[in-house]
Amino acid sequence: MVKAIVGACWGDEGKGKITDVLAEDSDIVVRFQGGSNAGHTIINEYGKFALHQLPSGVFRQNITNIIGNGVALSVENFLKEVQSVVERGVPTPKLLVSDRCQVVMPYHKELDGMEEARLAAKSFGSTKSGIAPFYSDKYAKIGFQVSDLFDDKDSIMERIDHVLGLKNVLYTELYHQKPLDREEIYEKLMEYKEALAPYVADTTTLLHNAVKEDKTVLLEGQLGSMKDPDLGIFPLTTSSHTLAGFGCVGAAVPPTAVEDVICVTKAYSSSVGSNTEPFVSEVLGEAGDELRRRGGDKGEFGATTGRPRRVGWFDTVATKYGCMVQGATQVALTCLDVLGYLDEIPVCTGYEIDGTVTDRFPTTPELMRARPVFTTLPGWKCDIRGCTDYQALPQQAKAYVDFLESRIGYPITLVSTGPKRNEITVRQK
Ligand code: GDP
Repeated sequence: MVKAIVGACWGDEGKGKITDVLAEDSDIVVRFQGGSNAGHTIINEYGKFALHQLPSGVFRQNITNIIGNGVALSVENFLKEVQSVVERGVPTPKLLVSDRCQVVMPYHKELDGMEEARLAAKSFGSTKSGIAPFYSDKYAKIGFQVSDLFDDKDSIMERIDHVLGLKNVLYTELYHQKPLDREEIYEKLMEYKEALAPYVADTTTLLHNAVKEDKTVLLEGQLGSMKDPDLGIFPLTTSSHTLAGFGCVGAAVPPTAVEDVICVTKAYSSSVGSNTEPFVSEVLGEAGDELRRRGGDKGEFGATTGRPRRVGWFDTVATKYGCMVQGATQVALTCLDVLGYLDEIPVCTGYEIDGTVTDRFPTTPELMRARPVFTTLPGWKCDIRGCTDYQALPQQAKAYVDFLESRIGYPITLVSTGPKRNEITVRQK
């Protein structure tokens, strides 16, 4: 069976941790979208890791880890990451790269940086990993698939000339840079070919066979519902689909095989990226600083960039919508332990838009005008970090979880009480 582990909100919900936990009973873990522009933090017996591209199953020897065709593969970062986990004592993971995956080119990263600089104050807060130019090229049919690297030189050169005909107009006319050199691009592609050769496989057939053989496959999403280019907060979105539905395409499994969609959400909100993005339940000032400082495993700072994340109270409007568009079958709630310092915990339960209160998540122009409506719940005022027995949690903590579940309308089945692998409870009501 196929299970998708995806973000209900803005990303950074703790998907890496939940994938690492659930990988124990799985055969294959697949990354199906995004690139090295976000990080999944995992803390286990080998230490603390921020995985950017590697699937979160790399710590377990029984698992085949796949970079699916939907991923924006940065070859340099992929190799660096493999080396860095192995150097820290993790046995060499079983890793495969789809032959249909496309590679992020150096000019994608440069274009990303040049465009953000051009946009200046109106920039998207990109990590400058080349993700938007990469996906634009994929859909404009001028990207390089891993399988292309193994084509003959003449065909590759022809493709390069076609690509550079377009890119060099941007380089010279819009960004006033030197044009790209066709030989240099070819050399880079050959470097990628050599580096990837040991990993390349027809993962499409492999995964369809695995499903037929009833293997357990985890699809690991990056970011969350709010960042989906169709159903998220456009245009403050990412450039690939963050939804479980896309997992079938980006990993290559039959849609009917996805039986379980585990939506991960934090017990409060956080968002990294542009400061212009509407973030209705945001907490600013000292209260925000304190939540940011106490959040996650060492404060709410981006795993890839170290940027401070914006923080907010739990938003039932956004999370309910986020779970709906993911098609959640269950919800994993992380970071409940973080809220133990609060006397009272505000929860955003409605949006006031033009004088009317709603619990429907709107499109961006309306979202820009939304003001939060809060319901305040009592805190539990004690440290629950590391608790592994749901029943042993303080009554107010369980009431908080019950309240969130009643508002989002999807069953919360796992409640995480700390960043480490074993700091988790299975919720029994
Ligand atoms: P991901 O991209 O969805 O995997 O999330 P990130 O790794 O970017 O951010 C989640 C942060 O929360 C990381 O710092 C995790 O170590 C941390 N984390 C995950 N679960 C818990 C939890 O239950 N409690 C605490 N305190 N931190 C957690």
